[in-house]
Amino acid sequence: MSAAATDPCAQAQIDSHQTLDSVRETLAKCQAILNTDHKVHEARRASQDIDEQWKKFQDAFDQMNKNMISQIAQTFGNEGLISPAQAGLVLNDTLSAEEKKAVLNYDFSIDAVAKILVTKTKPRVVVMAGAGISVSAGIPDFRSPDGLYARLKEYTDMPEISSPEELFSIDYFKRNPIPFTLRAKDMLPGNFQPTMTHLFLKLLDERGLLYRLYSQNIDTLETQSGIPHDKTVLAHGSFHDVHCINPECKKRMMLPEWRKSIDETTPPKCTDCGSLVKPDIVFFGESLPDRFAQLQKADFALADIVIILGTSLKVAPFNMLATKSTPDCPRVLINRDSVGENIGLLHNDKENNYRDIFLEGNCDDQVTALMKAMDKHDKEKRGWSKKLQSMHDDIKNKKTDGWAAVVQQQRDLVVSESGPLEPTKRKSSKDPSRRVSFDANENNPSPVNTKK
Ligand SMILES: [Zn+2]
Repeated sequence: MSAAATDPCAQAQIDSHQTLDSVRETLAKCQAILNTDHKVHEARRASQDIDEQWKKFQDAFDQMNKNMISQIAQTFGNEGLISPAQAGLVLNDTLSAEEKKAVLNYDFSIDAVAKILVTKTKPRVVVMAGAGISVSAGIPDFRSPDGLYARLKEYTDMPEISSPEELFSIDYFKRNPIPFTLRAKDMLPGNFQPTMTHLFLKLLDERGLLYRLYSQNIDTLETQSGIPHDKTVLAHGSFHDVHCINPECKKRMMLPEWRKSIDETTPPKCTDCGSLVKPDIVFFGESLPDRFAQLQKADFALADIVIILGTSLKVAPFNMLATKSTPDCPRVLINRDSVGENIGLLHNDKENNYRDIFLEGNCDDQVTALMKAMDKHDKEKRGWSKKLQSMHDDIKNKKTDGWAAVVQQQRDLVVSESGPLEPTKRKSSKDPSRRVSFDANENNPSPVNTKK
């Protein structure tokens, strides 16, 4: 027997050591269990994270697919590579057979259009206009064989220009503003007079029918014909205002000062920062005016009739406006060519069409014919054709100075920074409840924001 066995103190020491060892062992086991538990917890949390991220990825992937299909439809839809239905752009099948019949009673004639315009109480007319409305003013359209794009090829021998489109590219303009400066000279407001079609739109405005005019044109003929700026959305901008292109500066230049430089073929420069200045035309590589995005949803939702004038309906996002109206809203295409199948216009689809009318021909002839039809059906005998003709004669005789009109508008804007030239800054255009309706007295319209 060892001394320790007989020594109670030593024995107690041994016992306590053993107990301590045992406690340590238990603690280690607990620690191990705890670690495992912690890892399980961590693993569970990581698994939840993965689930969430996967869900996000799936949503993003779905969205990307939708965007891609929509882009393909817009790019290739014209060539028929993908049908609008495949791209999910057709939403006409939400009406019953009876509701479809009620839209036009399957009458796709010019008289049907006239009846809507004169017999319904001040219908809200929303117009989409392209270069075709200005052709008779002498302004070439963009895409016809002798149109602007074709003619701009004259400039392609200029150094660095690889395509006519570059004249309207912001990147190219920053590198070399001379070609645009030359081109701007013969595009200046005032070189051209409004056409019969502009005056038709002005007459619709005067008589309280024009709800909004969306125009792709930069020629300012809408302004020159007297259509108020708050009734227009100039989707691709115009010459109505001029600003420094430096985003930190954006200083306005007054039109007469800008014109002086243009006349001298000297690219105008900002007097504050020395950067180039350019008219508020939307160049390739620039975004469309805020107003275009802000107003379209409500405008087309409220439209009682959409009239599409002189456009190839090939340029997105402008062409997509035609798809924003409600399924019970008639759409009238006035154009030399039958276009719009790419975005779901139905006038060529005899089986399914119930709401789309195609009036073939140049815009001036067709609106003149439409005015005659309106005279025939107007119980109030307001004399549409006569009025249109007298407006046209006035323009011809007076030869109104379009340049002066645009200059004056810019001056007005300076007086009131929230004025009509920058409608996106106006409270009224942001607030649909303050949007003007035409149900009330023409001279004293009252706000209404529900569809009839
Ligand atoms: Zn500047």
